[in-house]
Amino acid sequence: MSFVKLNLHPSLLANISSLGYETPTLIQAKIIPVVIEGRDLLGIAKTGSGKTASFVLPILNQLLTIAVGDRNRQPKVLVLVPTRELAVQVADVFKALSHQLPRSVKSMAVYGGVSINPQMKAIIGVDILIATPGRLLDLQRSNAVDLSKVERLVLDEADKMLNLGFQEEMQEIFKLLPKKRQNMLFSATLSDQLSGINRVLLSDPVVIEIEDNVDEVQLINLSGYFVSSERKGPLLRHLIKEQNMRQVLVFTSSGFKADQVAGKLHKNGIQALSIHGKKSQSARLGALDRFKSGQLQVLVATDLISRGIDINELPYVINYELPRSPKDFVHRVGRTGRAKSEGLAITFVTRDETRHFKVILKKMKRYIDMIDSETLDF
Ligand code: AMP
Repeated sequence: MSFVKLNLHPSLLANISSLGYETPTLIQAKIIPVVIEGRDLLGIAKTGSGKTASFVLPILNQLLTIAVGDRNRQPKVLVLVPTRELAVQVADVFKALSHQLPRSVKSMAVYGGVSINPQMKAIIGVDILIATPGRLLDLQRSNAVDLSKVERLVLDEADKMLNLGFQEEMQEIFKLLPKKRQNMLFSATLSDQLSGINRVLLSDPVVIEIEDNVDEVQLINLSGYFVSSERKGPLLRHLIKEQNMRQVLVFTSSGFKADQVAGKLHKNGIQALSIHGKKSQSARLGALDRFKSGQLQVLVATDLISRGIDINELPYVINYELPRSPKDFVHRVGRTGRAKSEGLAITFVTRDETRHFKVILKKMKRYIDMIDSETLDF
């Protein structure tokens, strides 16, 4: 299968090849025609499957076909995402693929935690808005944006977007949108909640579920260590040094712990920063940028960034603390081994977490030979 067969505009094909994509991923091959057709869609696919481009490409393609006179200055496409980091990442894909199109297509990410005024100015004339719900509503209440011309709605990480934390904001946003629109929901997992809500939100949707691509999941090597809480810090430093890890994403369960782990690494001469919800927006984006570009060796994060964030060929993920839900575990380890590159996800497990870890592995249909850290010399 080639991108040419998907009937995309030639200028998009040029942008696709400049990003180095040679053939569509499975999800792209299945989803692009459905979006072009204008159908509602529920896409279930693991992270790293190329799902962002699967909606970005047909959306751009469609905008290129709108007659100039029909274009108004309000957003025609709204993409809602749960975190600021994901907003920036999705906007980057839109920007990369809208380069030098025959008609200029303006996209922009809006999110909280930064001053609203520059966003109010920049939002004028935006075709595609990528937003976190709270800031979108703030902008709408200030009359900076009118959502009544939205023709296409994308919910990325939809299971997260439709859960309790966002429910009120989402209901408010839905009321501001035209009733007639194309809806696209994307999620890595199909939760009960999602299957309930999609009946309300989607009309006669095409459901596309990409089975775990065995090759890709198998590319993520999993390993695990039994380790007491007190020895986790020394084990982490030992592994980073012994395996000469140049780029490693470490997950903790709380922001407090993330700060503590990053601080300790730093004291021991290992370059590390933490990222979590209580950090300022500029600190979050700055740390993520430095990490993505390979300037920062260790990023210690909470589950805030376990979803959707794409780090090119990230070689290592370490679960310093186990997440509560198997879903979060899948998201975390999915940060590595993305887009056909190999990766290693290491998990620290205390003895009393053994059962919980077994449940997680069973859900992932994976098995790990655990290493007892007591047998290691560090
Ligand atoms: P996503 O699942 O959208 O976060 O994408 C995961 C990674 O796959 C990103 O680094 C994309 O740049 C990359 N990617 C997306 N589509 C393709 C493709 N057709 N060929 C190669 N890489 C791709």
